[in-house]
Amino acid sequence: MKTSIATVSISGSFPEKLEAIAKAGFDGIEIFEQDFIASDYAPRDIGAMVRDHGLAITLFQPFRDFEGLPEPYRSRAFARAERKFDLMADLGAELMLVCSTVHPAAMGGIDRAAADFHALAEIAAPRGLRVGFEALAWGRHINDHRDAWEVVRRADHANLGLILDSFHTLARKIDPETIRRIHGDKIFFVQLADAPAIEMDLLYWSRHFRNMPGEGDLDVTGFLRAVLATGYEGPLSLEIFNDQFRAGLPRLVAQDGYRSLIDLMDRVRRAEPALAVDLPAFPAPKPVQDIEFIEIVTAPETAREVGDFLTALGFSATASHVSKQVTRWQQGAINILVNTQGSGFAHSSYVAHGTTVSEIALRVPDAMAAQARAEALGIAPYRQTPVSGELDIPAIRGVGGSLLRFVDDATTLGQIWDLDFTAAKPTAKGAGLTRIDHIAQTMAYDEMLSWSLFYHALFDAQKAPMVDVVDPDGLVRSQAVETGALRITLNGAEARRTLAGRFVEDSFGSAVQHIAFASDDIFATAAALAAAGFPILQIGGNYYDDVEARFGLDPALTVRMRAANVLYDEDAGGQFFQLYSLTRPEGLFIEIVQRQGGYRGYGAPNAPFRIAAQKRATRPAGLPKF
Ligand code: MG
Ligand code: MG
Repeated sequence: MKTSIATVSISGSFPEKLEAIAKAGFDGIEIFEQDFIASDYAPRDIGAMVRDHGLAITLFQPFRDFEGLPEPYRSRAFARAERKFDLMADLGAELMLVCSTVHPAAMGGIDRAAADFHALAEIAAPRGLRVGFEALAWGRHINDHRDAWEVVRRADHANLGLILDSFHTLARKIDPETIRRIHGDKIFFVQLADAPAIEMDLLYWSRHFRNMPGEGDLDVTGFLRAVLATGYEGPLSLEIFNDQFRAGLPRLVAQDGYRSLIDLMDRVRRAEPALAVDLPAFPAPKPVQDIEFIEIVTAPETAREVGDFLTALGFSATASHVSKQVTRWQQGAINILVNTQGSGFAHSSYVAHGTTVSEIALRVPDAMAAQARAEALGIAPYRQTPVSGELDIPAIRGVGGSLLRFVDDATTLGQIWDLDFTAAKPTAKGAGLTRIDHIAQTMAYDEMLSWSLFYHALFDAQKAPMVDVVDPDGLVRSQAVETGALRITLNGAEARRTLAGRFVEDSFGSAVQHIAFASDDIFATAAALAAAGFPILQIGGNYYDDVEARFGLDPALTVRMRAANVLYDEDAGGQFFQLYSLTRPEGLFIEIVQRQGGYRGYGAPNAPFRIAAQKRATRPAGLPKF
């Protein structure tokens, strides 16, 4: 089963696209005619260039407005097709996509269209070419794959087949199960694309908002299951029209595309094991059981500040690494490592980002399996030279170049703290923090899809709908992804002047912007923090007047919240309380949350007030030390 991608899906010049597509692991490309016309290369040279990259041309597309035309348009359409057949011969392309007509003069009728396609296939046959018919969701007369299939069936020609495109079927909410009735050998080509669920004109939605399978909300898995159930064995090709991708780095977009395709095929074979999916075996996604530790890297000069901050937050330094400048801090079930080693991966993170989260260690059912799945998805492993006597913990590259480590009960977990660290001293009383509730990772907006795909493919993480957060200086998009005990909020900054945008700029790329800890009693935690001199973000009085009225809160509760700078939200499931620290000079800050009942969110309605307060508190002169 060949993997393929349409050249229109990624940015760059034609040679750049080929390079990126070949590197990502694809077997072939759909040549999008505009891409070819825009290049300066002759058709034969393009064909040779494609083959030199080890790629095949899987499809030439699109040929528009062909069927159902009256004369003189009809003769002209055939003449145009013959010119394209000549071009295809030069390119070395063997299959042409004809999409259903939107021509104002085109007439309807399945038989009329079938007759035109039979005639076209008659011309293609002696040339050794084939024609595939695709129903556009906005086609004038044919906009449903079931009608396109009826045209192909009635035309009854060996050189004519059907082309299916998940977007056109799913965007019109046509049940993909209807595909199971089509004969697999008459499906010539399959295009795959996802899209976010937004109400929008179909054509505009398709041309600008398609995304990789797994990045959107369409049931592409159900679609591909139905396709493969027909016995279809041809190429699986991505055809993604997306403004962001056309502006993105070719290499990254191609890599995400390949990852999404592998993940999709894996989902299909797990959902329907009877189907023949041509994909090497690799481990299934498993939810994260816990966050074992978070490592923060800083310089020796600032280690004390960071230590004072953690102490005021109720953490105790309990142990040190046996050979590295790493201190273990504990509270509740939380482990924070502070790394001041002047070499190695953490140090490089410090050089790039300043004081930052350099590693997140996740407890999973099987660490080696998680690593193997990551590698199958084209996620780069991180390997270091193991120091004898210390654990070699599997790791991969995560957001912003930070590391994600995998630990499990069987192989590593019991030993990390015993083998690599000195015996832990007892912890102090603490401030009532129990565990890590979520981690917020901030990135440029156009990287957001890439990272939600990363977590979705690696862990089968569930995605919450994207929400807009208003920063006084622009918009930030936020999306939560969740897999077992790991909850991450991805924040995409569009504007530089937003708090998130400045963070991305100041930290040279995306990274962890805040860590949220859970407390069972946020007011007790707030009192302990205040007593310890922890720098709590002050929230203005207007907020409390508003929130009391908005939710009809007991004024006595609002008084407590106001005194403790605690913010409030609720949903159908329950209540949510949160408070924030001031922002460190590098932009990192801490959040403390208390969830009551089944509250599922992250306090997004409070984000504008939190951001405004942070901006007020972060004045250029006299930056708060912590
Ligand atoms: Mg298509
Ligand atoms: Mg948060």
